[in-house]
Amino acid sequence: MLNTQLRPPIADRYDVVIVGAGLAGCALAQALAEADQRRHRSILVVDLHRGVSPRFSGEFIHPRGAQILDDLGFYTRLVAAGAVDVDGFVVSQSTEQDAPVVLDYAAIPGERPRGLSVHHKTLVRVMRQTLRDREGDGPGPRQVTLLEGWRVVDLLRDEDRTCGVVLTGREGELRVRCDLVVAADGKASTVRKLADVPDRRQSLGFMAGLEVSGAKLRHPLHANVILGGPGPILCYPIARQDGELSFRLTFDLPHALPAKGADLSGYLTDAFVPYLPGPLAESVGDALQRHQGPLELAPTFNLPAPPATAPGLALVGDAAGCSHPITASGMTMGLLDAKYLAREARRRADVDPGQPWLDDASLRRYRLEHDRYVPTRQALADSIFEAFRGEGEGARGIRRALFRYWRSGERQRVRSLALLACAERRPRIFLTEYLKTAHHVLASSFAPQHALYFPVSDRLRQVQGAVGLAGTKVGVVAQVAWSQLRPF
Ligand SMILES: Cc1cc2nc3c(=O)[nH]c(=O)nc-3n(C[C@H](O)[C@H](O)[C@H](O)COP(=O)(O)OP(=O)(O)OC[C@H]3O[C@@H](n4cnc5c(N)ncnc54)[C@H](O)[C@@H]3O)c2cc1C
Repeated sequence: MLNTQLRPPIADRYDVVIVGAGLAGCALAQALAEADQRRHRSILVVDLHRGVSPRFSGEFIHPRGAQILDDLGFYTRLVAAGAVDVDGFVVSQSTEQDAPVVLDYAAIPGERPRGLSVHHKTLVRVMRQTLRDREGDGPGPRQVTLLEGWRVVDLLRDEDRTCGVVLTGREGELRVRCDLVVAADGKASTVRKLADVPDRRQSLGFMAGLEVSGAKLRHPLHANVILGGPGPILCYPIARQDGELSFRLTFDLPHALPAKGADLSGYLTDAFVPYLPGPLAESVGDALQRHQGPLELAPTFNLPAPPATAPGLALVGDAAGCSHPITASGMTMGLLDAKYLAREARRRADVDPGQPWLDDASLRRYRLEHDRYVPTRQALADSIFEAFRGEGEGARGIRRALFRYWRSGERQRVRSLALLACAERRPRIFLTEYLKTAHHVLASSFAPQHALYFPVSDRLRQVQGAVGLAGTKVGVVAQVAWSQLRPF
């Protein structure tokens, strides 16, 4: 046993080593510990950052994710730290005179009626503290050990099976063996690369983030999605302090940034602020003007789900696939991963501690479950991102049709939101909704009343664009269909 005053004592062997103490890693550590009621097992969670990762990241969590946070004992602590219960989405096309579309979580039957939104740094800080608190300062063996300020730089291998990690930190190098390594180290996962898991990551662009206090909004407890500008704008509450709400604004930017450094504030003021509703535009304009130094900027990626397991290895959270944040579902996916991997651990809670806790059959079952919800969510995020950001006729046509579809009835809105919020994960429903929207695009292109607004040549271009866009989605739809049909 190695021991120093700078860190908790680290054993040379654990049942599970989780790499990454972000949302997914912390949730999994807590869920595994809860599954091990007899405290037979040991879990090491390692993160390269002390405190929290400095990058701005996800904050808006769907009800299903909020429920998992509640089940794991994080919810009450998060609310005490300023997290806000949230009601759903409001989507508006600012150039339109029509009222925005309101998508309320409470309308989804059988679902927790509210989600949760919280500043990302508060989220991770509270989750890590919860893990520390479960051990207390007692002398007994620890079930969960959190090690911060150490980076995983290599994997230990026994032929093709992963059996441990190599860590580096201020004190040098540590080698830790285990039965299972879990990659919870985010979209650029080092563990995934070290394990040679194939990865088709594509860079999409950036999101600039801004915090604004006390803004006036008609729907302050919803994620407001505002379209019409150069990219979608999102505005949602991230903290409640002394009764006042603080909001996060995110601005979607292309890969080739139109402005950098201090010039970015000026660009956002000119290009995006005019699309915001009056009172919000004022607060955001002021906040941009007052902002000192560079704005927070996070790269956005699309990572089609790689295989979520290999011998001795499981991937969770963004390491196991991520999409553009527009559907705000990355964190709910990471929480579902934690839930389903821990379900496998619970099944084997009574197995002799000399035997691996999560064996190959457990990992197979986890991967099967994971592959049923992740492709659907990714296909949805991908389609919505293209419809909301795309500038071609196809994207514009789909955007118009999507609004028309949502306005056509409550049932349509509820179905869409259930998919968006990961409450509805049956690929069959995704495919039906997808085809209905496509039908709306084509129908709206040919509908006679449409001619009042658009000449025939434009409508033909819209059809052409929509068919082209649908064509590029055939692979995505096929992937969803396959995830439902495949035999194992
Ligand atoms: C701008 C932006 C906005 C978003 N908005 C939303 C939203 O509103 N709702 C939503 O659901 N999702 C959103 N997302 C996605 C969401 O942030 C992610 O899905 C979520 O943070 C993934 O959690 P994770 O724990 O898998 O990874 P991360 O949060 O990336 O955590 C990975 C952890 O691993 C650590 N680590 C990395 N490498 C190593 C290593 N070699 N050794 C040790 N530790 C390591 C890091 O320090 C980090 O703490 C957004 C993403 C972005 C970029």
